[in-house]
Amino acid sequence: MGRVLSVASECVPLLKTGGLADVVGALPQALASQGWEMRVLMPAYRSVLPQAKGWPVVWSDPDLFGGPGRVLAGEVAGTAMLLLDAPHLYDRDGGPYSGPRGDWPDNDIRFAALSWVGAAIARDGLSDGWRPDVLHAHDWQAGYAPAYLAYSGAAVPSILTIHNIAFQGFSPAHRLAALRLPTDQFYPDALEYFGGLSSLKAGLITATKITTVSPSYAGELRRAEFGMGLQGVVTARAADVSGILNGVDTDVWSPENGPHPYSARAPKGKTLARAALCAELGLDVPGPLAIIISRLTDQKGIDLIPAIAASFIAAGGGLAVLGSGDSALEAQMRALQTQYPSRVAVRIGYDEDLSQRMFAGGDAVLVPSRFEPCGLTQMYGLRYGTLPVVACVGGLADTVITANPAALAAGVATGITFHPTDVPAFDLAMQSLIRLHNDPKIWGQMVKNAMRHPVGWAQSAKTYSDLYAGLTQ
Ligand code: ADP
Repeated sequence: MGRVLSVASECVPLLKTGGLADVVGALPQALASQGWEMRVLMPAYRSVLPQAKGWPVVWSDPDLFGGPGRVLAGEVAGTAMLLLDAPHLYDRDGGPYSGPRGDWPDNDIRFAALSWVGAAIARDGLSDGWRPDVLHAHDWQAGYAPAYLAYSGAAVPSILTIHNIAFQGFSPAHRLAALRLPTDQFYPDALEYFGGLSSLKAGLITATKITTVSPSYAGELRRAEFGMGLQGVVTARAADVSGILNGVDTDVWSPENGPHPYSARAPKGKTLARAALCAELGLDVPGPLAIIISRLTDQKGIDLIPAIAASFIAAGGGLAVLGSGDSALEAQMRALQTQYPSRVAVRIGYDEDLSQRMFAGGDAVLVPSRFEPCGLTQMYGLRYGTLPVVACVGGLADTVITANPAALAAGVATGITFHPTDVPAFDLAMQSLIRLHNDPKIWGQMVKNAMRHPVGWAQSAKTYSDLYAGLTQ
């Protein structure tokens, strides 16, 4: 069909801080099945650069925002990668966005450079002859890529995907020249954003098409409570905005892979997985075991957990929490474990293997987000028959069929949704969870429904493919 350059700040398996990396890493294979050849451009951070040993240089510039930059081309786990090696920007101790003293102060320049290179490749191609038909930029880190492309007058179409509008790439106005942006575009209907600059806004006003990672989030972004300042910009571009649900890698995320394999047809292994998980975490839970695997932040509604814990635990429930983030929330989670040692287990940190054992061994997965562009953990929950209890926002609303009487009568319920994201609504949802769990027939049916719900990439890959095709024909 054609070639696509995907530009992002993280990509599984090289580097992941959140769902963005999962999606950027999954798209090349998903789109290959539709006939698209995709390469992913991302920074060669210090931890990533060793992967590119011996790779050929396919692009270079002696002055990439204050130092030399070059792009190395190679393959990682079957994905064609383009790693941007620019030591003055990426060869640092710490994470992709922050070091020991917080966010890197030059993050706008670091990711403007990534975007600049993305636009240059889209416009001029690589020295190995590869040239994309479409530029696909992800989130604020790649927001300037469609802008640089548009301002250079190139006719290559671009797509900006919003994975989370909360992160907007703000810079003060005096960075305009350092960011190599046209000064005549600094006015409110163009680059200016509340007196400064936003790479996400720049992408939103210049990309040919805009996508978000779920249909509901696409609609929500036009409202002030979700648009976070950009609702007017999104509304102005409404004709070009669409929502395409993320999928999950069903080969990696499969209950048939674990030490106690199971499936919708042969569910017995889940009981063994649950027992093993309880033993591992030191839990003794007579009722439903609810898991939470999440960044511990305000977005994810983690602060609501202590308020619903007492009645849930009194009714026989238990909680297993894996995550890290705000220190106050980490402390709240630890305090719960201290209060209910045999019912609550908390692991602070990042551990993908443990997360898979938790999806296999849990009965329910809680996602009480205040906003959720798509969300992946509810989809892993569906896949593992670990019923999602989710706030009815964004992609959570689009992927979970709540157990209301109509859905139960029709035999299609896969979880529980609640609204609004507050303690009374969440508490009611947890009471429903207890009630449903107490009815083995209904519960068994819901587990089957959940496991049969398609969460792979097939449908969305087709939708992305149609979008690319519409831009290149
Ligand atoms: P977000 O990108 O907003 O953090 P998503 O639900 O889209 O939320 O993606 C989060 C991803 O990170 C999921 O794959 C989830 O399983 C994973 N994850 C989050 N926290 C942890 C953790 N502490 N350990 C292992 N995996 C985690």
